[in-house]
Amino acid sequence: MIENIRQLLDTRPLLIAGPCSAEGEEELENLAIQLKMAGTHIMRAGAWKPRTRPESFSGFGVKALQWIVNAGQKAQLPVITEVACAEHVEEALKAGVDMLWIGARTTVNPFLVQQIADSLTGVNIPVFVKNPVNPDVSLWQGAVERIMKAGVKDIAAIHRGFSSYENNAYRNKPYWELAIELRTRIPELPMICDPSHICGNTKIKKVSQTALDLQYDGLMIEVHHNPAKALSDAQQQLTVHQFTQLLQQLIVRKAAPEDALGLSKLQDLRDLIDELDENIIEEIAKRMEIARNIGAYKNENNIAILQPERFREILNTRSAKGRENKLSSEFVITLFGLIHKESILQQESQMNKQEVKPSKTK
Ligand code: PEP
Ligand code: MN
Repeated sequence: MIENIRQLLDTRPLLIAGPCSAEGEEELENLAIQLKMAGTHIMRAGAWKPRTRPESFSGFGVKALQWIVNAGQKAQLPVITEVACAEHVEEALKAGVDMLWIGARTTVNPFLVQQIADSLTGVNIPVFVKNPVNPDVSLWQGAVERIMKAGVKDIAAIHRGFSSYENNAYRNKPYWELAIELRTRIPELPMICDPSHICGNTKIKKVSQTALDLQYDGLMIEVHHNPAKALSDAQQQLTVHQFTQLLQQLIVRKAAPEDALGLSKLQDLRDLIDELDENIIEEIAKRMEIARNIGAYKNENNIAILQPERFREILNTRSAKGRENKLSSEFVITLFGLIHKESILQQESQMNKQEVKPSKTK
């Protein structure tokens, strides 16, 4: 067991790197030493691999745990491995692994996560929880909560993207908003990005930089001694050289300016934004008032609320105006889709209102 893990966990950005799976003692030892020299803080390596097809290589199991622990000790690097059930936890603890992660295919299953949580009761070991394969932030949150309830103190989330049926540029679509939503729900939870499983290839610079720009706490990257020969995830593992180059290219921005001048400049800009946002709300409110007047008119004259042609015209003219002002059509269409939806609701509030006749009493 490596000392000072707690202190190390506070390093920003926290760099976790290593092979998809541990494939041999000597190779892993050499890799661990190189990873340490490259600036890695924690070495990852899988002993049990969750594979889609039964004939695929599924890890060297318990034997690999010992390789992982020995390599970590040689390189003075704490090590992390994946556990998918209570037996894995037991074996990993017995072998002396420093930290555990729960994989995407396990996070989806509350029975397994609960089993893992129960087996961790009273054990003080850091646990990282990957997002479930499906884009369900509550399921991710639930898994984190089960581990928290077991009394585990150091917990972090790993964002590795979500499966989707459509063909797209990613192996697992990031849906950044879901990771941000989890952070909003559990603000103290560190968030690590796994660009390797998001991209599914070695071109992970853009996703890694986005994560850093979004103030993620760290990165988990797959690095292999010979990626072309890797027994799992060969297409996405970096060589140590590629990993080192990537680290040199990534820009770590400060969370906030440290000097007073920078701070006051930022504050001035924020004040401007606050003022503009207030104006936007007031203008939208005026637009809604007009929508209610239109609703009242349509009610009196028995005209249907939804006029698809008018909506199309709004989207066309507004996205053209947006483009003139460097706003993407996608953004403008989403924005006016929402505004139009609210307009319809406001118009509807005026429908079926009976005209109030002046009373004849007196
Ligand atoms: C892995 O990290 O190698 C892995 C199997 O990850 P995931 O659970 O994200 O697919
Ligand atoms: Mn992998």
